[in-house]
Amino acid sequence: MTHPFLDLAPLSAARFAEIEDRVARLLDTGQDVVIMQGEALLPLEGAIRGAAGPGTTALNVITGPYGQTFGNWLRDCGATVIDLAVPFHTAVTADQVRDAFAEHPEIDFVSLVHAEAATGNTNPVAEIGEVVRERGALFYLDAVASIGAEPVLPDPWGVDLCVIGAQKAMGGPAGVSAVSVSERAWARMAANPAAPRRSYLSLLDWKERWTDAGRTALLHAPAQLEMLALEACVERIETAGLETVTARHASAAAATRAGALALGGGLEPYVYEAREAAPVATTLRVPAGVVASELVTRALSTDPTLPLAAGGGALAKEMIRVNHYGPDATPEAVRASLTALGTTLSEKGLSVDVEGAGRAVEANWG
Ligand SMILES: *Cc1c(COP(=O)(O)O)cnc(C)c1O
Repeated sequence: MTHPFLDLAPLSAARFAEIEDRVARLLDTGQDVVIMQGEALLPLEGAIRGAAGPGTTALNVITGPYGQTFGNWLRDCGATVIDLAVPFHTAVTADQVRDAFAEHPEIDFVSLVHAEAATGNTNPVAEIGEVVRERGALFYLDAVASIGAEPVLPDPWGVDLCVIGAQKAMGGPAGVSAVSVSERAWARMAANPAAPRRSYLSLLDWKERWTDAGRTALLHAPAQLEMLALEACVERIETAGLETVTARHASAAAATRAGALALGGGLEPYVYEAREAAPVATTLRVPAGVVASELVTRALSTDPTLPLAAGGGALAKEMIRVNHYGPDATPEAVRASLTALGTTLSEKGLSVDVEGAGRAVEANWG
């Protein structure tokens, strides 16, 4: 008997190209889309190493931990890096980006994270894109946590390098990812002597040996199972409708925010302004005297399938993440998460209203 996922015919170049085209349609982009055979960190790093070098002056926007990583890669490439950091409970504004250009007109590269699952904020990419385009800089965007949860439109926003992964709101696999690349970005990479070539990080290799060569022969054996899972997850989004999927994430975020406020017990939205809160995941601040990671461990012991996590690193003490994305963008997952948190808080002697939280989830689902 053949095994359902071991004894498969090899993935053809034609099928691979079809999956790329489907991802391009999901992004509604006319740019080249390259599917990379690794988790999203692969195109995130490959795009920076390809496009930035010692001649680059980069404005690196930091609204969470990924921005810090990008700054480190940029510095490692020899770029001059201007960090624009905002507190993690807020979003960056287009005016802050405009001010950075006014102070440093030599900026020719901007790196930005659209939404940060790790901090729960989302940034106004369309408005920032206008500023970046006026200044003619290359615009690099990490849309891993926004794709599927809110609109991601590289073409009208003027994004030159837009990286996505399927493992968050797309409800897909983590092992492959994609990047859309504008003509300007290709030109920048082609002119960069330090851009990776004959390397797993190289986007130029894929351009030269795959895209420009008519997409007839793959560079190496693809991650077949992950490619099939990516195809299946894009197909599922197409069937449901991308707008339906993003609306579900917006509802989950609104319901979680309202539900947490109704729950009480000292829980508060970590991102102050609702319009700066990411649809992909809602972060909550725990009251003084409660350790977030302990609360989450206790809540998960009642049901390990709940989409709850403590904040990473230094945020583990104060932040809870409700990862209501993909299959967990449902009223049931949100209600169950808040109920488990409420029960755990009441064990600690804090006063909570679990039923009120449930009503708030229902009323705010949208
Ligand atoms: C989740 C995420 C990634 C991918 O990281 P993983 O931890 O491997 O899932 C990249 N960028 C952002 C902004 C993310 O939220």
